[in-house]
Formats: sequence, structure tokens, C-alpha cells
Amino acid sequence: MKSEPLSYLCSDNIGPWEIYLAQVDRVTPYLGKLAFWVEDLKRPKRILVVDVPIQMDDGSVAHFEGYRVHHNTFRGPAKGGIRYHQDVTLSEVMALSAWMTIKNAAVGLPYGGGKGGIRVDPRKLSPGEIERLTRRYTSEIGIIIGPDKDIPAPDMGTGAREMAWMMDTYSMNVGRTAPGVVTGKPISVGGSLGRQDATGRGVFVTAAAAAEKIGLPVEGSRVVVQGFGNVGNAAARIFHDHGAKIVAVSDVTGAVRNDAGIDPYDLTQYVRQMGGVKGYPKAEAIPAADLLTTPCEFLVPAALEKQITEANAWKVQCKIIAEGANGPTTPAADDIFNERGILVIPDVIANAGGVTVSYFEWVQDFNSFFWTEDEINAKLERLMRQSFEAVWQVAQDKKVSLRTAAYIVAATRVLEARSLLGLYP
Ligand code: GLU
Repeated sequence: MKSEPLSYLCSDNIGPWEIYLAQVDRVTPYLGKLAFWVEDLKRPKRILVVDVPIQMDDGSVAHFEGYRVHHNTFRGPAKGGIRYHQDVTLSEVMALSAWMTIKNAAVGLPYGGGKGGIRVDPRKLSPGEIERLTRRYTSEIGIIIGPDKDIPAPDMGTGAREMAWMMDTYSMNVGRTAPGVVTGKPISVGGSLGRQDATGRGVFVTAAAAAEKIGLPVEGSRVVVQGFGNVGNAAARIFHDHGAKIVAVSDVTGAVRNDAGIDPYDLTQYVRQMGGVKGYPKAEAIPAADLLTTPCEFLVPAALEKQITEANAWKVQCKIIAEGANGPTTPAADDIFNERGILVIPDVIANAGGVTVSYFEWVQDFNSFFWTEDEINAKLERLMRQSFEAVWQVAQDKKVSLRTAAYIVAATRVLEARSLLGLYP
């Protein structure tokens, strides 16, 4: 019997989820007998939509809409970040949770996939309001999170501060200190050294591994970074530390370019004071739309989904795209890059460094034994290189893109687990 399509998505909020479904369709012909179970990948296991009412500083009460989605739990507990952004929708959180399933399986972490979010512009709230929002949201999703059930982490708009509040709220509710309920925490409450820069470091490690394959030296190469938040900032610094030149950077405030190179450490200082890259005096302002088409060797989209589409993919001038963001490239743009011979390191490999060190943090919390930063970075680099190499081999053997290869590796692991576990009841 044929399954009914999902009914809770109305047509006006379809976006990233459709991109994800198209990616699954592309991999299905390569799954052999496991394709029998492919519908499992196309449906989140469970979705929780919560109302988050909080008292504002002026005494009024405001309501926000929050989500936590468990896309899959065959290979372990749900795992993935919490996004605070004014454009968060259920369909976006569903897609982000599904990409976590694929990402965790692609690098072999013992997790399923989950994601959460609140539709809110955190820049418009005071620290006290953000704390109340975070605590109430944590309480609301408390029925489905836990160290062995679902482990949230930072994503866009959240960081170590929010994770500390989440850990505290959950710990208060269960009556014990539960550091393993979230990752990306401050070091002093069970966080891991190296977590802060882990996603950006992983972007660099996979980009360098890909560059080696095509004989492209990192030293002296030009790098363009879209998004100067946690991921883009760390990636820019680590590229710079390895002798690459950061030639253009953008964030929500604007875009700047300097062909002689931008010092990301200096730019970070400027952003800290001024709130964004706009007006940076040591580079020239360019229109935001020109950033992605600035000539370079490495392009790092590290902002939102759907930035590179068929409208601009023909104009992109780079050799390697390393996806720091989740879902920045549409399937139509992927086809254009395949045709043009531009190598795309997909998000599910390129930005997996964050969740990889989240995994190390979770393991350290369980054991109450902590590794040094050098140990963490070495373990991260080894795992990222191994995962990249495995995906590269599949891409060569099957003559497919790195994205399809990563999905072949990941979907095979997830659906193999399904076939071994069987169907309950
Ligand atoms: N939000 C990050 C991601 O998209 C990290 C998730 C985690 O550490 O669990 O991969």
C-alpha cells in the first residue's frame, strides 16, 4: 500500500524540507535493497510544537512559537542544535533535523537527528528576556529531551550562554546536575575545549583534504566567507593561520572585499565593537549579492539555507565550495556545479565538526574525564579526514557528487539500522 504524503505541511511553508526530499530522491537508486525502507528518511519520527509565553521587561506577556523535531533515532538518541531566528518555521526545523540524521551517520556518530528552534529575533530581546525564553522553552521540550534521549546544542542565534540555562533548567526539573543533556556548554559546567571553533575547524579540515585531491595548495589561496558568525569566523581564522588570504567577508550588516587580504582577527575586533562588518575601514564595501561571485579558490557559505541557487550558481568563481551552513546550495545549483566541475563539499560533511566535538563533550560528561584541547583537535581532524576520505572513495567509485556520496554512506547506515532493528510491533 502506498503511504499518504505528510499533511501537516501547507504549501506556503515548504522550503528547505523540499530540498532535503530532493536529495533523498537522488540517493535512492544507489541504496539497493535498503531502498525498501527509504520512506523512513522522508518522515520525522516526532514533532513537538510549543507555545513559549514569557514576561517582557515592560511587564507585558509575549508568546513565541517553538519546535523540537526528532527526525530519526535508529542509531542513537536525537542530536542537533537550537536555532533562534525570526524566520524559523516548522518546515525549516524538519529539514535541519533530517540533515542532522544524515550528518551524524555520515561521520559515524552514534546519534539520530534532531533540531529545535524558536521564531524570534534574539537581537530584539534583552538578556533577561532571552533567559526567560530559553528556560520556558527548555521546560516545554523537557518531555522529549535528556542525555540518552535527545541532546540539544547551539545553532544560529544561540551559544554557550543559552546551553548553560538549558542545562540548569533541565537539571532543576529532574533534581540532579545533568551536564549530558546539552553540548556546547561553557567549559566550567562540563563543556569541551575546542567546541567553540570546532565547526569552522572541520570546514577547514575537509576543504584542505579536498584541495589535496585536486592538487590545490591552501597557502596563498583566496577565500570568500559568507556569514561571520561562529562558523564563518572560525573558518576564516583557521584558513588565515594556514597562509590563505581572506578576500571577502559578509554578514547581515553588509559585505566587504580586499584583494590584498583581510585579517580575520582584526575584523573580529571591529565586529565586536561595531556589531557587524559594515564600514570596516581596511576593505571596500561591495553589494551583498556580489560576495558569492567574488573570484576565489575556496567559497565558504556559512550563513542561511538556499543562498546558492540556479540564479547565481553560473556566476560563482571558485574551485571548492565548503558548506559551513546547513543547506546553502539548492539541488539545481548542485547540478550546475557538477557541470562546471566545481567541487562542493556538502554541509553534512563540511560542517560536521561541531557535532563531532559535541559528541566528544557528551562522552567526557558521562565519564567526568576531560581531554586537552590538542587531544580534541587531533581526534576531530582524524575523524573528519577519515569521513571525507570514505565519501571521496564512494564518489569516485560510483561517479557521483560528494553530496550524493555522503548521502549513500549515511542513508545506508541509517537504513541498515532500520532493517536490523525491524519494524515494531
Ligand atoms: N548546530 C550544529 C549543526 O548544525 C551543531 C549540532 C550539535 O552539536 O549537536 O551541526
